[in-house]
Parts: sequence; C-alpha cells; structure tokens
Amino acid sequence: MASDRCPNVGPLRVEFSSPVKEELIKKQNPALQPGGRFRPRDCVAQQKVAIIIPFRNREEHLKYWLNYLHPILQRQQLDYGVYVVNQDGEGTFNRAKLLNVGYAEALKDYDYDCFVFSDVDLIPMDDRNTYRCFSQPRHLSVAVDKFGFRLPYTRCFGGVSSMTKEQFLKINGFPNNYWGWGGEDDDIFNRLSYKGMSISRPSVEIGKYRMIRHNRHKKNEPNLERFNRIAHTLETMSSDGISSLSYSLVKKEKLDLYTRIHVDVGGA
Ligand code: BGC
Repeated sequence: MASDRCPNVGPLRVEFSSPVKEELIKKQNPALQPGGRFRPRDCVAQQKVAIIIPFRNREEHLKYWLNYLHPILQRQQLDYGVYVVNQDGEGTFNRAKLLNVGYAEALKDYDYDCFVFSDVDLIPMDDRNTYRCFSQPRHLSVAVDKFGFRLPYTRCFGGVSSMTKEQFLKINGFPNNYWGWGGEDDDIFNRLSYKGMSISRPSVEIGKYRMIRHNRHKKNEPNLERFNRIAHTLETMSSDGISSLSYSLVKKEKLDLYTRIHVDVGGA
C-alpha cells in the first residue's frame, strides 16, 4: 500500500502531554474535506472506509485522536471519513448501539464498504497497522499499553476493530442492549465465531497502542448483566442487531475534522 510519496514510517512516538487545538490540526491536514473526509489524489483507494467512534464527554481525547490519526490515515492512502457518534442525554452509555448508529448514518453519506470501529482513547503506535478491512474481521488493537502490550485474552475483540459491510451484515451488526461498560465486544466475538468467521490480527509489534488514561464516566458503570447476555448470543443475535436498530437522530454536523452525529439511543 505504501508508495514513495506516502511512505508509512513504522513505529511512532505517541504521548499525551500537551493537548492540541483543532485549528492547528486543521492547518496540518489541508487536504481534509468537510466532515473529516479524505481520498488520495494520485490513486484510487481499494476500499471506502468509515471510521466510527462512540463518544460522550471526551473532547480532549478526541483532539489527540484526530491529531494522531488523520496524518496516519492519509499516509495509508485511504478513502475515508470519520464519524463521531455522541450519545445525547444522561442515560447509561451504550457503545455497541452507537456503533450501529454510526454504521447506518455513514452509509447515508457515501457507499462505504469497510467500517473501522474505534474507541476514542486508543492511538496506534505503528502506522503499518492499516485501518482497512481484511478477508476476515480484524482486531487491530492487539497490544495496548494498559494490558502490558499483549492480548489480555484470546477471544478479545475490544478497542479497535474492522469489518467489511458484508461481514457486519452476516452477524446482523452489533447488539443494542448492552448498557454500561463491558461485554458487548465479547458478544460481537461470539457472533463472528457462530457465523464461522475467524479473527485476523496484526503482529504484536505492529498492533501496539497507547491508551489515554482516564476515570470511568459515572454513566458507564460495569454492566452486571453482561455475563448472562454473552451466554445467550446465539439465541439473541438474529433478532437483536442492525435489523432491529431504532434511534432518534438529533443532529448531524459536518465539522472540519469529522462528522458529528448526535443521537438519542433511548434507555435500558
Ligand atoms: C469485558 C470486555 C472488555 C475486556 C477487557 C472483559 O471482561 O467483557 O468488554 O473489553 O474485559 O477490558
């Protein structure tokens, strides 16, 4: 994928000591189109990638993410758009449902065929970790500093992942009823394995990430129902997913560095 004009550089220095202003990020990424869209000038990218970030109250983290990721994604010569899906209101956070909303809303803008789902606090430490799709669903954040730069457990699918539209639809998207922290990524892993897919991953060297340290938001307490739900993925996945998604779109704004979606996802 790399060319002489846009070489990937390999390991990157990632640190979170001085927050960056959006104006500066904008200046440093002059080729970005409104809504955080980019496509390479001198070649036709192989995939159209929507990057979906579930979000609430993490403006500082988002600035770090945009500052680090935009240059990387452009070096990777992707035809991409960034979607930040904000859960409006004070209800319990629902990461997987926000990801479903991002998928549906991104498709209203462009004919995306690949979706990268990323937490806002995860920054790749190597730009050879390509934000695209593979023949099997991809888990990109395999070696996060928080877990000592190793996979915490084999069936782990949390953090940053990618799926083609076809792979996503095969599992009926993501569950809509995991409220609070944890479990939804394990449910997604179950869905993939029940549908006979395997997980593709970069090497531990290329799949390194830094996580921005933070305290858990009070409306994102551990979901105590998660163990019970994960045990029943097989029975629930065909009725609960992208096919049953319902939400109210509050606002969709094309900002300079990303498209921001405000959504009311209801409550438990
Ligand atoms: C949770 C996952 C989480 C993982 C790593 C698991 O126990 O169910 O949602 O990603 O721990 O923190």
